[in-house]
Amino acid sequence: MPLLRQNKLRLLLAAVIVASVVLGMALSWTALGRQFDNYAYDFLFRALQPEPWDATSIILAIDEPTLAKYGGNAGIRGALAAGLERILPAKPGAVAVDVVLAENGLPDADARLERAFAATPNLVLPAYILRDGTWENPIPRFAAHAAAIGQVHASLDKFDSVSREAPLMKAGGRIRRWSLALEAFHVRVGGTILESPEELVVGGIHIPSTLKDAFVDGRMLRIRYPPVKMGGIPHVSVAELDANPALAAKFSRKTVFVGVTAQASGDNRITPYSNTEPVPGIEINASEYETIARRMFLVDARWLAVTAVSLALASLVGLAFALTSGTRPDWIANASAVAVLAASQAVPAFAFTRSTVWPWLPGTLSVVFAVAGSAFWRQMVVRRALNQADAEKTRYQRAMQFVTHEMRTPLTAIQGSSELISRYGAMPEAKRKQMAEMINAESKRLARMIETFLSVERLSAGQMEMKQERFALADVVDACVARARAYAERKSIEIDVQSIAHCELQGDRELMEYAIYNLLTNAVKYSPERTRVTLSCEDGKGDRVHLAIQDQGIGMDKKEVRRVFEKFYRTKSAEQSGELGTGIGLSIVEQIVTQHGGTIQVESEPGKGSRFTLVLKRA
Ligand code: ADP
Repeated sequence: MPLLRQNKLRLLLAAVIVASVVLGMALSWTALGRQFDNYAYDFLFRALQPEPWDATSIILAIDEPTLAKYGGNAGIRGALAAGLERILPAKPGAVAVDVVLAENGLPDADARLERAFAATPNLVLPAYILRDGTWENPIPRFAAHAAAIGQVHASLDKFDSVSREAPLMKAGGRIRRWSLALEAFHVRVGGTILESPEELVVGGIHIPSTLKDAFVDGRMLRIRYPPVKMGGIPHVSVAELDANPALAAKFSRKTVFVGVTAQASGDNRITPYSNTEPVPGIEINASEYETIARRMFLVDARWLAVTAVSLALASLVGLAFALTSGTRPDWIANASAVAVLAASQAVPAFAFTRSTVWPWLPGTLSVVFAVAGSAFWRQMVVRRALNQADAEKTRYQRAMQFVTHEMRTPLTAIQGSSELISRYGAMPEAKRKQMAEMINAESKRLARMIETFLSVERLSAGQMEMKQERFALADVVDACVARARAYAERKSIEIDVQSIAHCELQGDRELMEYAIYNLLTNAVKYSPERTRVTLSCEDGKGDRVHLAIQDQGIGMDKKEVRRVFEKFYRTKSAEQSGELGTGIGLSIVEQIVTQHGGTIQVESEPGKGSRFTLVLKRA
């Protein structure tokens, strides 16, 4: 295959690979793409669970038995107060409450709860943003005892409502609040929460969380839920405490999250672990707290890295196809494609073990598209090779037809003449001589034709060896002129050789003689009788020398000049001239001259004559 075409094909494959990556990336940005990535995330989340740990938080649960005991929803504050009273002697480190405290309740219950809050160290109370964008805060008598107020909004996936991340910050109106879990951590470690666009710093812990919009859900944190083996965050219900007050010891120095866990409360969420069994909201707050306290941050991979790796994977596919196209069997490319696809699956898994969330879709799609595109490309390459072989075959067939057709004429003449000679024994001597000469000439023509034809085939197949010798241009020209003179004299054409400068060429003398002889005989062949053919030589630019062969023959128009080096091409006027030809001589001449580092220029005018100029390189 020609180098240029091969380069073009490679470029096409490269474009296919880049397009695969662009398409893969673009599709992963669509809603559907994000869902796929979320499911892949959930899969890895379940498949690569961390080892169980000792939780630093604990849940004080208001569960069904507690509600039953304290009088349903109306008794929540009573249960909360009772629970706090039981655990306070054990000295919890902080207490974060996720129970609605925005309105006044029963006077006695509120008074008891207020007393309990007053005795609670590091108390964090909840706040919500209402539909109108304002904050619903705990009533002042409770808020007065809080070390901090934290927002308790969840962030559920838009499409499948799974709780994968939590907003560390929420803004209502112009007031921003940190999350309940972050505030619970903050009150324990003290100091201030430092903000930068990329992270929050609390108590020396850097929480990676990008600021996207300071007045919406600006900072998200992926929650690392405790592994299934751990059975969730430990929890003790108020009813259990009532039944066994010694359980209070479990709350010692822990960060306590207090909330309603009864299913009926409706505050339940689905997590990547619990696709069927929802988790109470308070456990999600506690999990967020554990994520921060244990620094188990899951960070999104950078898009630049994802793009680069996708491109690398897709390029590997392209490379496998490019290197195996044509020569090696298809299965090698196919097997490589499967291997790369496997690698594209391993990347997100490996990244996950390094706490990096690597989107699954871009790499996967890039590889899949690259495989499809490369397979298509390979198909095209094979198609092209087939077409080329087809063209080669047709060309060969045409050559065969042409040669057999051309050979028929001399053969018929030879056959006819020889039959006449044998049939008529008493043939005049002059006639017999003429016949013998005709047979001789026609068989020579036949031999020349075969020779020419074979040379073309060998030259174009690259089988013809080119000698590398030095020879004088003038010698070659002389030899050609001597050989062509007899032919020219028959048409009374004068060959005028102007002074040929002494100049040496490098290459194959025999081939060069063939080329010049061909041009010279063409000049004679396509000229009427009693005209002149002129050979002249001139210095060209640099180390070039120009050898021109000029005739006063039938000439050619511009269109014909352009096609004259095509194999088997003959002009109309050449056909009509009655001169026999094969239309391949010039194609060989061109090949010979090119292989000697030269070029041919043709100037011609119909009816006026032609000028073939060889621009040759001096040795
Ligand atoms: P052939 O002469 O055997 O037909 P060539 O390859 O040598 O094949 O030439 C191809 C064609 O170019 C010729 O058939 C003729 O039409 C044209 N041609 C070549 N040389 C001349 C010339 N000196 N003057 C006019 N036409 C020419």
